[in-house]
Amino acid sequence: METSQYKSIDASLQEYFGFSKFKGEQKKIVESVLGGRDTFVIMPTGGGKSLCYQLPALMMGGTAIVISPLIALMKNQVDLVRGYSSNDSIAHFLNSSLNRKQTKLVEEDLRSGNTKLLYVAPETLTKESTQDLLRELDLSFVAVDEAHCISEWGHDFRKDYRNIKKMLQEIKDDIPVIALTATATPKVRQDIIRNLKMEDPDVYLSSFNRSNLYYEIRPKLDRDATISNIVQYIQENKGKSGIVYCLNRKSTEELAETLRVNGVKAAAYHAGFDANTRSRVQDDFLMERVDVITATIAFGMGIDKPDVRFVIHFDIPKSLENYYQETGRAGRDGLEGNCVAYFSQADINKLDKFLRDKSVKEREIGSQHLTEVVGYAESASCRRQYLLHYFGEEFGNDGCGKSCDNCCNPRESMEAKDDAALVLKVVTELGESFRRKYLVDYLMGKKTQDAVGFRHDQKATFGQGKEQTPLYWSSIIQQAMLRGLLEKDIEDYGIIRMTQRGNDFMDAPHAFPISLNHDYSKIVAPPSAAKEAALDDVLLGMLKDLRKQVSGQKNLPPFVIFQDASLNDMATQYPISTDEMANIVGVSQGKARKFGRKFIELIQQYVEDNDIERPNEIITKQVAKKSKSKVSIIQNIDKKVPLPSIADSLGMDLNALFAEIETIVASGTKLNIDYFINDYLDEDQQEEIYEYFLEAETDSIEEALKELDDEDYNDDDIRLMRVKFMSENAN
Ligand code: ADP
Ligand code: ZN
Repeated sequence: METSQYKSIDASLQEYFGFSKFKGEQKKIVESVLGGRDTFVIMPTGGGKSLCYQLPALMMGGTAIVISPLIALMKNQVDLVRGYSSNDSIAHFLNSSLNRKQTKLVEEDLRSGNTKLLYVAPETLTKESTQDLLRELDLSFVAVDEAHCISEWGHDFRKDYRNIKKMLQEIKDDIPVIALTATATPKVRQDIIRNLKMEDPDVYLSSFNRSNLYYEIRPKLDRDATISNIVQYIQENKGKSGIVYCLNRKSTEELAETLRVNGVKAAAYHAGFDANTRSRVQDDFLMERVDVITATIAFGMGIDKPDVRFVIHFDIPKSLENYYQETGRAGRDGLEGNCVAYFSQADINKLDKFLRDKSVKEREIGSQHLTEVVGYAESASCRRQYLLHYFGEEFGNDGCGKSCDNCCNPRESMEAKDDAALVLKVVTELGESFRRKYLVDYLMGKKTQDAVGFRHDQKATFGQGKEQTPLYWSSIIQQAMLRGLLEKDIEDYGIIRMTQRGNDFMDAPHAFPISLNHDYSKIVAPPSAAKEAALDDVLLGMLKDLRKQVSGQKNLPPFVIFQDASLNDMATQYPISTDEMANIVGVSQGKARKFGRKFIELIQQYVEDNDIERPNEIITKQVAKKSKSKVSIIQNIDKKVPLPSIADSLGMDLNALFAEIETIVASGTKLNIDYFINDYLDEDQQEEIYEYFLEAETDSIEEALKELDDEDYNDDDIRLMRVKFMSENAN
């Protein structure tokens, strides 16, 4: 009997989805649902959760209800299911996005019995009319997707989710439930089972280990240094898809702009953009017109791009659930995925401040989540072990090999058997009712108010750890938790308790090697983010020769090819690609392409011949601060507005305007100011100055005035003509 049923499940898998094999535990889960049992599925993103309820729904009589929090995704899911069938009525959704007529059509299909899957938002389920409708139907089971939304301890709590069970009871007694989620700590799991009143459910817990992801934490020093670091990272990963998560909208836009200036195809995404813009950015990313998205957490839900190669957290997320979800978007195809997060205590303090306006309960939950994030960042243990432990999974103490920064660069380890035993003894003696911070203070012999109040300062073990640092004790406690000797009761303010394993250790202590946690407060920024690199005189000489040669061939003065400042920078940075060249002072992308090739070849040869170690940090181009006024200058010149009026409207004097125009032209934008020059200089005069620049060795104004008859011209005339000349020749 069993075998024949297996066969039919396999056949149905093939028939409905065209897949030949089940993934992971899908088959058992499907069987559980078909058997009418309450089922709980915890499976990481990409594991194939949808099929666990879609297949039984298609196989069974009646309609399955799927409760899902994201209206935007429902349509997607429905389209996917319809793709497996010739009949569109097989799947529908009901939510606030449908108008009355559309809702009517759905209702008709439902009543006709053709609909196997009905997606509903929890808000819709609360409506009397929805409940009436559902009561009329033959329901097979209910699937609760993103079930972690039920728990206040989850990362995406929704009030309506807590009422699901009540609403279902209004509709039909004893309808089997399958709950699914991609993240759930043991605490959240408990909440889900309790809240949905699941009866002795079959629980399917897949491993949360994403073995192809590399986890790394970097200290976040000052903002500029961090941005440079990110730009450099992305340039080293040119052309790969990636996401950079920021906390606020402004950061996403600034970072995207900085990346673009540095030659990266980047776009920002956040909830402040209108729907059109958002879907355009998503499309650009999926179609690879854009490589990097800088985004708030609004980005990612439903983004199913399999080949995201890196996820960077410019700002640390507010919980490890968020961190796991967001990093989980890397490497969904099972190939390389790098997860780099920048950590600073200042960011944590900022997140902590946001909690102030919340309710007591939310504040408590929020600050515990932050504590976990800090613990993760500071830990010197395997990142993977830490994350998996957080989600209630054991990974062993040997680390993941080479897939996290801590395993790649292990810190010195020391034997702490006796001290671990001391910690456990203290936890027991103090009645298992204190948090980590208090335990550390106790061991250090700090006479806090509580220590005195509880008379702990009278105890023999009080202050027995004084010889060591708080960091040391904190590290031991954390690693004892990771190894299951202690556990934290998050429901009870995070107090630390003993476990069976801890008691066993007390009876027979064994080796307990630990490494000290990272102490980010001790890491200081290098003296200057923009490294002082030495100017290579030999190379500079060669570059000047080359410039002369090119200028001869092109019949253009040397400064039109590259200005001295640019050559100096090249002789310091050794750019060996067009992109790197475009990062050199005064060199735009266009200019790098137009004049750069020979210079790059020369530098490349030189670097090779002389075994030069190039500075690994090409200076990050900063976004020009006055970009707004630049845009307005360019637009106004396009409209042939007189220059003095432009200067007026921008509140600058003419001199400052000229300076702006010069930088615009120097950075590769053509500007036609003939309309203005023509009013001041006649054709012959213009020609004379132009001819002069064609022959000139330098672009100096003084030099020009000297050479030309300075009776006829003033500074401004020469400057204007120099703009015209550079605009026409240098870009
Ligand atoms: P989750 O909801 O867990 O993130 P999905 O349900 O979106 O995962 O499934 C992830 C991907 O795996 C989808 O592209 C899906 O078509 C595919 N998939 C699911 N089950 C199977 C299977 N048995 N064989 C092959 N591909 C599968
Ligand atoms: Zn590791």
